[in-house]
Amino acid sequence: MNIILIGPPGAGKGTQARILVEERGMEQLSTGDMLREAKDSGTEMGNKVAEVMARGELVTDEIVIGLIREKLTGSDATGFIFDGFPRTLKQADALNDLLAEVGQTLDRVVELRVEDEALVKRITARSTCGSCGEVYNDITKPIPADGTCVKCGGTEFKRRADDNEESLRTRLMAYYKQTAPLIGYYYHAGNHCRVDGLGEIDAIKAAIAEKLDG
Ligand code: ADP
Repeated sequence: MNIILIGPPGAGKGTQARILVEERGMEQLSTGDMLREAKDSGTEMGNKVAEVMARGELVTDEIVIGLIREKLTGSDATGFIFDGFPRTLKQADALNDLLAEVGQTLDRVVELRVEDEALVKRITARSTCGSCGEVYNDITKPIPADGTCVKCGGTEFKRRADDNEESLRTRLMAYYKQTAPLIGYYYHAGNHCRVDGLGEIDAIKAAIAEKLDG
């Protein structure tokens, strides 16, 4: 089964994708994570995208489509979770073509719905473990008092360069202008469904499972 998780920054796509990976053997394809890796590797492409990302703007369709194309071939996962991709209509068309090329289909597009006020609160409080990527939140899931990650025992935590109020405003605007139209696109394709992204992680997980298995 191949699915897209779609929703504004901070909607919880990464958190839910990680659960689906652990519980269902699916493979998470997060263009945000891929771009951050490219950025850290210091390659020419990495340097080019770093500034764009820090401002909260979208990197070019060509770059992200290229990244996804590389990952779609040669995986033995039970399915892909597209997280943060597609983000434009051009990327959505490209994904259709790429899936057709590898003989796969898109089964569900799960929209995670969260209002802006909650998004700002979530994102400005967010940090992750530098070793395993476990996500923490200063208010709802703080880093343990002994300073070690609950998942892997790591002791380094980081905040994203674009998790500040100014970049977040740009990211939200990019979402509403460029990505939100995809919801209508997939609604008409017949595979869109909506889940309330506010609430406990487990409750959202259950709501997603119902949409995928029901
Ligand atoms: P968010 O938490 O805001 O959803 P991501 O981790 O998915 O963020 O992406 C971070 C940044 O990486 C985006 O603001 C954008 O600059 C870039 N990016 C990620 N995916 C794409 C994409 N599919 N198309 C264009 N830019 C992307």
